[in-house]
Formats: sequence, C-alpha cells, structure tokens
Amino acid sequence: MKAFDLTGRVALITGANTGIGQGIALALAQAGADIACAGRTAAVETVAAVEALGRRAILISADLSTIDPVQHIIDDVVQQLGGIDVLVNNAGIIRRADSLDFTEADWDAVMDTNLKVTFFLCQTAGRHMVGRGRGKIINIASMLSFQGGIRVPSYTASKSGVAGLTKLLANEWATKGINVNAIAPGYIATNNTAALQADETRNRQIVERIPAGRWGSPEDMGGAAVFLASPASDYVNGHILAVDGGWLAR
Ligand code: NDP
Repeated sequence: MKAFDLTGRVALITGANTGIGQGIALALAQAGADIACAGRTAAVETVAAVEALGRRAILISADLSTIDPVQHIIDDVVQQLGGIDVLVNNAGIIRRADSLDFTEADWDAVMDTNLKVTFFLCQTAGRHMVGRGRGKIINIASMLSFQGGIRVPSYTASKSGVAGLTKLLANEWATKGINVNAIAPGYIATNNTAALQADETRNRQIVERIPAGRWGSPEDMGGAAVFLASPASDYVNGHILAVDGGWLAR
C-alpha cells in the first residue's frame, strides 16, 4: 500500500484561517506537509499551529472574490516554499434568499468565489503541476453538489459546478500525474453554519436526519484530505468524496 505520508510536500489551502480550511491545513501538516494559507483574513492561528508541528507555514493575503490574485498566489508559494504539490480550493461563501427574489449581486458573488476562482486556481496551479509531472487538487464541494437544497440557488449551482469541474479536470490531467478530486462535506460546525446551529428547532431536525447523529467538525475533514493529498490516492481520479456522517446515504 502506498503511504499517507506528506513529508516534503507543500500544500496550498485557501480560506485556512477558520473552519474546514483550518481543519484540513492542520491535518495535512500533521501528515508532514508544509502549508501555505491564502485568504483575506490572515490565518495566524493556523500558521502558529503548523509551525508548532515543526512544519513550514506561510501567509498569503488575497481576496478571492476575483481572479486577480491567482497568479500572484501560485508564484508566491513556489518562490517561498519551492513548489506546490497539493492545492485545496476551500474558500467559499453562501447567500440565502428565495429564488423569486434572488439578486444578480448575490448570484455573481457566490459563483465568482466558489466556482470561477476555484477554476482559475486549478488552471494556474495545474500549469505548475503539469510542468513537474505530479500534483493533487482537492476541491471543496458540498451535499448540494448532489441535492437541490432550498433558498441557495447560486450556492447549489456553484457546488454542482465544482463537482463537474472536478471530473472534467480529472479527465484532462489524469495522464499528466495530477489527481483532481473533491470532498463534499455534510453539516459541519463552522462560522458558515452558526445560525443553523443556534436555531434550536433546525438544529434538532438536522441532527435527527444525520445517521451519525451529530454535526461534523473541521477535524472530521482531515482524514479525507490526507488521503486525497497523498500517494494513497494515486489511482483515484474525479471522485467526489462525501464526508457527511451518512447524510447522503439516508
Ligand atoms: P467558513 O465561513 O468558516 O470559512 C470560509 C472560508 O472561506 C474563510 O476562510 C473565509 O475567509 C474564506 N473566504 C470566503 N470568501 C473569501 C474571499 N473573497 N477571499 C478569501 N477568502 C474567502 O466556512 P466553512 O469552513 O464551513 O466552509 C469552507 C468550505 O466548505 C466552503 O467552500 C463551503 O462552501 C464548504 N462547505 C461547508 C459546509 C458546512 O457545513 N460548513 C458544508 C459543505 C460545504 P474569511 O474568514 O476572511 O471570511
């Protein structure tokens, strides 16, 4: 069996200051990777925790609502850490409103950050990875890559798009030594879901509907991320791995 060891690898994670991105960054560092955190809020806690594990960590300031910083992010990581072995496209937003009232601004904001920036980060990191003949890309999808949801039209469209894009890029790059896969988290306790957790009725409904009987944590995403970042997944291409406590199985 090939190892889950990431020693000597460099992983770039977007939105690693909090939530799922932070959980994944720490799991990859525990497996041995050096970590680059790109985002608009400085991931100082994440960097300190990665360094405490004896790994290198850098911060790259970038607002990922547009593709403007994409080339700079990739260049910066390559220059400071020597290359990129793993890209985790995690940064994402959600806007809630009935489809009859949904605004163009909310449509564009979600599609730009969740889908457009994800694609161009894949493209730019992909050019670097193709040049080296190896790389792992992990996109963060959602249960709404598979289900419709309600009152989140741009989010559902963006995450369905992320799933489709993951498969397309996996097809195009499989012979170039690059694995493109996605993680589809279930209900994970983060800032993103704080309002749902605080709503007693909704919270009870959600927990009762999850076969595992609890919310997921950012740490719960770590094992899947290490697998998809490591040589253990070298023959896994275009897979959308649900990490959802069984939500989709129900
Ligand atoms: P959080 O809100 O806790 O984290 C979102 C991250 O994305 C933050 O680091 C945030 O930075 C970053 N981000 C958002 N917009 C931008 C931007 N314009 N530029 C740079 N960074 C940005 O949410 P989660 O950890 O829950 O979400 C992480 C990913 O997981 C998202 O893609 C989300 O859609 C997905 N997901 C989450 C689920 C859940 O139940 N929590 C379920 C399914 C998918 P900042 O702190 O500066 O805002």
